[in-house]
Amino acid sequence: MFKEINLRNHSSLHKLFYSLKFALDIENHNIVFKDYFYKILNGTKYKIYEAEIIQPACPFCGSVSLIHNGHLKIHVRYITANASVPVLIRLFKQRIKCRDCSKRSMAQSSLVNKYCCISNTSKLKILSALTEDRSMTSIAREHNTSVNTVQRVLASCSHRFIDGYDYLPEHLAFDEFKGVDRKLHFICLNGETHEVVQILRNRFKKNLLKYFCKFTLKARANVETVTMDLNFYYQDIVRACFPNAQIIIDRFHMVQMLTRSLNSLRVAVMKKFKKGTREYSLLKSPWKLYLKKFDDLEKIHPRYNWHYKDSLIQEQIVMEGIECDDTLTNSYNLLQAFFTALDKHDTKAMKDIIYSKEKVRPLMHRTLLTFRHNLKAVLNCASLPYSNGCLEGFNRKIKQIERTAYGYSNFINLLTRIRLEENKVKEKGPSNLLIA
Ligand SMILES: [Zn+2]
Repeated sequence: MFKEINLRNHSSLHKLFYSLKFALDIENHNIVFKDYFYKILNGTKYKIYEAEIIQPACPFCGSVSLIHNGHLKIHVRYITANASVPVLIRLFKQRIKCRDCSKRSMAQSSLVNKYCCISNTSKLKILSALTEDRSMTSIAREHNTSVNTVQRVLASCSHRFIDGYDYLPEHLAFDEFKGVDRKLHFICLNGETHEVVQILRNRFKKNLLKYFCKFTLKARANVETVTMDLNFYYQDIVRACFPNAQIIIDRFHMVQMLTRSLNSLRVAVMKKFKKGTREYSLLKSPWKLYLKKFDDLEKIHPRYNWHYKDSLIQEQIVMEGIECDDTLTNSYNLLQAFFTALDKHDTKAMKDIIYSKEKVRPLMHRTLLTFRHNLKAVLNCASLPYSNGCLEGFNRKIKQIERTAYGYSNFINLLTRIRLEENKVKEKGPSNLLIA
């Protein structure tokens, strides 16, 4: 309504400056545009708009009886479509002294914060660029600001990610990732929605205990399962902090431990044969086939391979390969049985495998002993559907963020960037992250 009335009633000059305000997306009525021109400053061609902010009344007592006391001139950096011609708003802020309360004040607006010369619109645009996979240098170049400004914008929304301590999701996943200075940071995701619950600077037991103990007992009792890998003291933390939680050992982690030991056994068996023999070649080049599920192997079409100079189907290769050694046969069968038990969610079969008396190599034996030691948590992975698969994807994303920036040296910046790039924040829109 306001716009239409103004356009109808005012002179053509007013219309022109009103359209300027419209083009620049400035709605404040106290800002009045006066002029616009190109100017070269320090060798760069700038597009300059001149404007004044009016202080219509005293902000302290509301009186309109004012003494005008000149202006403060600042250059506000504004957003531009053409980064080669940066836009500046030469802003004159009216200074006044009140006749009633004799206090001094200066006109302010939401266009730019006090003591600042980067417009809030630019800051918002920088923030929305920060939610994408881009380096800070490229964002700074596009918005005609310094990298420091971009970092400051990033830092200004870091406090938004301090969460409350009265809620924890039912299913958690624990892991770590390599970050600042190649140190390991702790990460905890919601096992169902795959949202970040928390990222901590380090994964020391003391700090983790301290962090989780801050939550209310009700929040901690809400946790039903925690997925984790085997090689850490996370289990103690779960027992200490979450009274109702079940521990689940991540299935990918267990499969990895078993395949690793099978692989080392395959290499050891292979080295017993001379180079160039059929057994050696069968165990060497098609090594990947030994780690696959038996059902996934090709069973119909033979392929010629010049390593062992024969055309065989994948199934034959594996069968012939594992027959070279009894221990290898046992270990291979054990791994396959483990795959089947996992697929069928068969805890009894899995228990039998873990307690199997078959002769296996010391490395695999040790793996099985570890499983025995954590039997309940290991069996949970077959009976419950949760795993750390979501974390692997998330860790990959973190790696990408670090790679784009050629590494971070400030943990808080990395943390904020990770959470900004998280989809959840993107959907919310960046505007509610920045305090104007
Ligand atoms: Zn006053």
